[in-house]
Parts: sequence; structure tokens; C-alpha cells
Amino acid sequence: MRITSVETGRRPVHLRLPFRTALREVKDFEVVTVRVLAEGGVTGCSEVVGTARITGETNASIEEAVNAVLAPVLIGRDLGDYCVALADTALAMVGNSTAKCGIDVAVHRAVAAWRGTALSEVLGATLRPIATDVTVSLATPSDMAAEASRRVDEGFGTLKLKVGGPVALDIERVQTVAGAVPGNVALRIDANQAWTARQALQVIDGLVLAGVAVEFIEQPVPAADLAGLAAVTARSPVPVVADESAHTAADVRRLADAGACDVVNIKLAKCGGLQAATEVVAVARACGLGLLFGSMLESGSGVAATAVLASRFAPDQVHDLDAGWWAETESAAIYRPPFVLCDDKPPDAPSMQ
Ligand SMILES: [Mg+2]
Repeated sequence: MRITSVETGRRPVHLRLPFRTALREVKDFEVVTVRVLAEGGVTGCSEVVGTARITGETNASIEEAVNAVLAPVLIGRDLGDYCVALADTALAMVGNSTAKCGIDVAVHRAVAAWRGTALSEVLGATLRPIATDVTVSLATPSDMAAEASRRVDEGFGTLKLKVGGPVALDIERVQTVAGAVPGNVALRIDANQAWTARQALQVIDGLVLAGVAVEFIEQPVPAADLAGLAAVTARSPVPVVADESAHTAADVRRLADAGACDVVNIKLAKCGGLQAATEVVAVARACGLGLLFGSMLESGSGVAATAVLASRFAPDQVHDLDAGWWAETESAAIYRPPFVLCDDKPPDAPSMQ
């Protein structure tokens, strides 16, 4: 069953609330849709979004990469050889991980459609509800506490608090939220690269002194500051998660060699899709690092694909897959706090004519 064409388009996504981190504020955005078509009416679709501050890509650059570079490598290839075809697309250009992710997920879904099965079966996973945290946007301490209480009332038991300096204000933010929610609610902190190593340790020490327990601290320092990340990890009593520092399997190997984190946040858009994420998982496991599956601010389509991987590799953890919750209307990943439920039914069997 040969791949005949690849199409891209756009779709708007409206958020129920503004999403604010130390890096950016997002209200509404567009996703790039990628559709892989094969003989016999077989199709597979994906949705991705350019996040320039993290992968260096925009929606326009994703469309150009897909249409001008990646699609020509795929067209004419057999779906039965999809692993080889995807490996070849990954080698066709440096970087552009989100564009590669769009191709990778669409091809995997085309394979599922061709076989008349679900994506989870293609990936060797038993699909189950995946627990997720929910993000509380960066704001004043009292506004964050109010948002945190709303999310807890909706059923979330794990909150990811966005922080971003200054140190004293960040300590106050976390302390105020901790005082506003029940003691059994787990708090995670994500600085999105906002601190120096020294500031990160000041925040951690301040929280310990205040008696505020946090589950982990994510990406405290800039992505390229491996030494800073290692210094925080060496001294912190709280586990450190690498996100912006950990895109590919090679990144994870470097982080492990430097002792620079305890856990990696794996996102399809950072590594290049499902096939590449499986390599990241293998390296992280081999190096003794924990796994957290996360998503960009994207649609439920990408979250659903990631949740399948979480089902396969770390089904019992609370992951970071709330992106679809932020979108007003989604179908591929349904949120029933605190779970992501994927719409991963086998597609209708394709026509064989
Ligand atoms: Mg993060």
C-alpha cells in the first residue's frame, strides 16, 4: 500500500483561558494539520503546532519542511515499510522536530487505518486512561491560588505551577497555592528556564524552609546550561525534570552523563514523533532516568498520540498531558479530570479497490 500524497492545512484552536509561562503567553492559536494519503483510500492525520521558543519552528516553517523536504521522501514508499520510511524522513533534514512529528504521527495513523486497527495496537500498547496534571498559569500568588482551587474542584489532584521569578515572589506563589488547596494535592513547579542555578537553589531552599512540599522542579535553568542543571540536581532534595534541555535521545544521553536531571519530559514535538520518542525512552531507561510524557500547547490529536506512548511505557504515573484540556473543543483526547481518555477506536476498514 503505497503513500500517494501528503497534504497540510490549518485549524484554529481557541483556549478557555490564557496560558502564561515564563517564556510566553498564548490565547488562541492555529495547528497545522498533516494528512498522509495512500492507495485504497487509506489516510492518516496528525496535528502539530510551531513553538518557536522551544523548537525554533513556526507553522509556516512546519508546512515548508513537510511539503518541500519530508513529503518527497515519503511519497511512493510502502506503508509496510513505514519504520524505514520514517527513519529516512528523519534523516532528510536537521532539526525541524515538530514537522517530523507531524509526518510520523500521520504515518502511524495511516498504518493503523490500513491494518483496520487502532494506533495503540500499532504501538504495542494497551490503551488505558492516563492520569495528567493541569497547569496553573504564571500570575500573582492570589490569582494562582484561585485558579488552583478551581482546578482541584474540577477533580485534578496534581497541579503544575508556572513560575518565573523573582525568587521571593516565586516562593510566595507556591506557598500561597499550597495554603489554598488540600494537603493531598501534589504540586509540581515549572520555571521554563527562568532561573540561574543559584536562584533555583534559593527557591528550593525557601520552599523547604517554609515546609512546602513539591513533587519536582522542571527546567529551572536555560536549556543550554547543562552545568547549571547538574549543579541544581546535585544539591536539590527535590527531583529535577529536564524539558527544554531534553529534546532527542542524544540530549538525554548528555544529560545523564552530566548528572543533570532525574527525570525527562518527553514530548513528540521535541523529539520528532512516536518512533523517535521510543528511542528517547530507551536511552532514559538505560540511564536510570524517570519518564514523564508531556505535550506542547497543542490540540487533543497530539495529546492522544502521546497518551498511547504513556500507556505503553509509564501507565501508572501522573503525566503532563493537559494541553487538550486548555482547548475549548477537542475530540481526539477527552479530559475527565484527572484523566486523558483517548479516542483510539479502529477506523473503518479501508476500501480495497
Ligand atoms: Mg515544561
